[in-house]
Amino acid sequence: MMPTNLYRLRLFYASLLIAFLSTFSTTQAKRASHDSGSATTVVIDAGHGGYDRGGIPGQMVAEKEMTLDVAQRLKKTLAASGYRVVMTRDSDVFVPLGTRVAIANSYSNAIFVSIHFNSAKRSGAGGIETYFFNRESLPLASAIHYFVAGGAPSSNRSVRRRGYYVLRKTTVPAVLVECGFLTNPTEAAYAQTASYRQKLAEEIAAGVRGRNSVGGALTTTRVATGESIPLQPYIDQTKVAKSERHKSKRSHKKSARRKKKSSKPAGSEAEAASKNQEG
Ligand SMILES: [Zn+2]
Repeated sequence: MMPTNLYRLRLFYASLLIAFLSTFSTTQAKRASHDSGSATTVVIDAGHGGYDRGGIPGQMVAEKEMTLDVAQRLKKTLAASGYRVVMTRDSDVFVPLGTRVAIANSYSNAIFVSIHFNSAKRSGAGGIETYFFNRESLPLASAIHYFVAGGAPSSNRSVRRRGYYVLRKTTVPAVLVECGFLTNPTEAAYAQTASYRQKLAEEIAAGVRGRNSVGGALTTTRVATGESIPLQPYIDQTKVAKSERHKSKRSHKKSARRKKKSSKPAGSEAEAASKNQEG
């Protein structure tokens, strides 16, 4: 009697195990297909272009050239991972912000990644910062920032919420990453090497791939795994008083960007948004 029962028991456990394993592999497969990006279009936005050089007047390294190079490297990296990739510009041309947003919004399943480099009058200013505006963009911002700031020799200036035009007007998850200060000699030297720009592209791509693994208050599944990316703390710059923002404002905006939006109410968000471009 015992041997037979034991055999049945073993059979039972074996079938349980098979059932478990098949469920597990189906889940894995589903996750893999979700992450491979076959259903996701990544709209890559190389900041500035054409007569809009980016940065501040007199800046040695042209921001528009660095952003385009990183964008093109990111395009290759993501395409190799199976993502559909769309560029808002793929050469040195000026593309209005409205057009960039319209491109992003024409894909319902898109995510929008805008690539910029920072600048400041103070050459010591440096670091990586990542911007988002809409709540649903925070996991993407968190993931991209986690990888870019983690992989860069620059300091971590954290994830920030601010109403830049391309972040505010996009209807898909949208992030703007500032890949370091071109006015900082050390960071500019890094940015001018192809290997570092390649690294930036790969870290941004890792963020795109990992955007669904961000843990934190906004996600429903809080399972902490080795793969999960912590939600990055962020600074809400839409709540900063006008005078303070003026003090801390990096003079990144060019007169070319100032549109006839002065009729807008002088609120922090409206004002930040009307500047509508970071660089
Ligand atoms: Zn820029």
